[in-house]
Amino acid sequence: MIAYRLIQAQEPPRIQDVPKPSPGPGQLLIKVGGCGLCHTDLMLMKRTTAEWSNMPPPLTLGHEIAGWVSQIGQGVVGFRSGEPVAVVPLWGSCGHCAPCRRGEENFCYHNSRLIGAGVGFDGGLAEYILAEARFVVPMGDFDPVLAAPLTDAGLTTYTAIKPALSTLIPGSTAVVIGVGGLGLLGVQFLRTLCSARVIAVDNDKTHLELAKAHGADNTLSSDTSTAEQIQDITSGVGANFVLDCVGAESTLKTGVAALARLGRLTLVGAALKTIPFGLHEIPWGAQLATSMNGGTANLREVIELARLGRIETIVDRYPLTHVEDAYRDLVDGKLRGRAVCIPETAEQMS
Ligand code: NAD
Ligand code: ZN
Ligand code: ZN
Repeated sequence: MIAYRLIQAQEPPRIQDVPKPSPGPGQLLIKVGGCGLCHTDLMLMKRTTAEWSNMPPPLTLGHEIAGWVSQIGQGVVGFRSGEPVAVVPLWGSCGHCAPCRRGEENFCYHNSRLIGAGVGFDGGLAEYILAEARFVVPMGDFDPVLAAPLTDAGLTTYTAIKPALSTLIPGSTAVVIGVGGLGLLGVQFLRTLCSARVIAVDNDKTHLELAKAHGADNTLSSDTSTAEQIQDITSGVGANFVLDCVGAESTLKTGVAALARLGRLTLVGAALKTIPFGLHEIPWGAQLATSMNGGTANLREVIELARLGRIETIVDRYPLTHVEDAYRDLVDGKLRGRAVCIPETAEQMS
């Protein structure tokens, strides 16, 4: 089968012919229907050998994966051959701590590092992928190409938004900063799950238009006056919830300045910048939170929302053999939605 592989740290990945794997006990072999591309892949391509530490390349990239069950390993029950499935990206969880038992494996108490599909294990930019059955979620008859971005872009934003939902009552305001792959799904979750006013912030006009078309009440360009504009729209109250899908110093500053008292700002964007935290630095009673991907329980819910048509994945399709064009378009900011690479063998299936 073909796979897009990082052979050595900091060398450009390339398409290789590799043997098709077979599932061991507890595993499923999944025929990949689509694999979404993420900024994290670009970060992994730049990682030094030292940063890879004890799980270095070679490996197949790609962690936004959906497809069909192809072979069922010994001891796995509850899956049918040919059934459409989606895969959670993070695989480092213990399976027995309290968050794991709740299906919040992403918050496992014992998982100290990011490890999973395409990070430490072979990922989904290939015709087939092996996954432990406990990280695989059946999804009825849902199209794997549309499901792939839901496993990371969708699952991350849903998991970040869910704890804020009880405060997002009529008259409240939610802001999404950065409405690209993640944020456009964030806007749609807010639109379908709560009655807050939804404000989208970005510096890309096309993305703001898409956000408007997918449920944002207001769209604002991202600059030093954005927080003031949010304060104006909310008559000086501020936003009850801010989801920062960028994580730059400027967006964090905007988020805090736009936040209402008792509001919540959740950071998922990985620009890795920081802002001061102190008694008079953030609004009284406000909560600052981070969130990382999501677990199997939330992935089921996200897929259900998509199956009901409550959210729409906006996909830019690329044949797997054109994966490098897709990464280039991601880097150049040319994507409309999420880039999904589709193996030729999957095209024949659907
Ligand atoms: P994307 O490129 O699809 O979208 C980013 C959006 O942010 C674009 O619309 C861009 O125009 C906008 N933007 C950039 N700078 C901005 C600014 N200063 N103000 C407002 N908008 C700005 O990226 P994505 O795939 O949506 O990923 C977003 C971030 O989330 C990345 O940093 C990625 O690494 C991170 N991420 C985090 C998790 C997690 O679990 N925490 C999971 C996946 C991705
Ligand atoms: Zn990702
Ligand atoms: Zn655990």
